[in-house]
Amino acid sequence: MKTLNDAFHHTLKDIYYAEQALTKALPKVAKATSSAKLKKAVDEHLSETREQIELLKKVFSSIDKKPEGEKCDAIEGLIKETEGIIEEASGVALDAALLAAAQAVEHYEIARYGTLREWAKVLGFEEAHDLLTQILDMEKAANAKLTSMAVETINKTK
Ligand code: ZN
Ligand code: FE
Ligand code: FE
Ligand code: FE
Repeated sequence: MKTLNDAFHHTLKDIYYAEQALTKALPKVAKATSSAKLKKAVDEHLSETREQIELLKKVFSSIDKKPEGEKCDAIEGLIKETEGIIEEASGVALDAALLAAAQAVEHYEIARYGTLREWAKVLGFEEAHDLLTQILDMEKAANAKLTSMAVETINKTK
């Protein structure tokens, strides 16, 4: 990896892998929570994640590359941490900790898409810039929704 173009392509493969890993991890979170609200939000974000994978395929084709993933250690770590919460937490702590774990994932994605769309811009990849901005906005909205849910219903002491 030497050029910004290399870094862009590498990071695109990384987030493509991450989104696919999330389609397998999110159903586990939906199943583990006792909150109907959190379950609904996670289910909705699962379908958005599938949409994002389709948008990423368009990003690859806009730069004449085939869609492929490359193992993302960061998302593997975040998913592993979430699985640990599912095994160990219960009661009010379970839902609060699951929501927090979901927000850690959204923040990771926001960081990645924020970087990717700016790199696309300087590389002259207009279409990729627009598609990545579209995904970034979905991730930001998902994160904001989780923040409101935490503050309004999930964060409680009993
Ligand atoms: Zn990587
Ligand atoms: Fe995503
Ligand atoms: Fe990564
Ligand atoms: Fe997300």
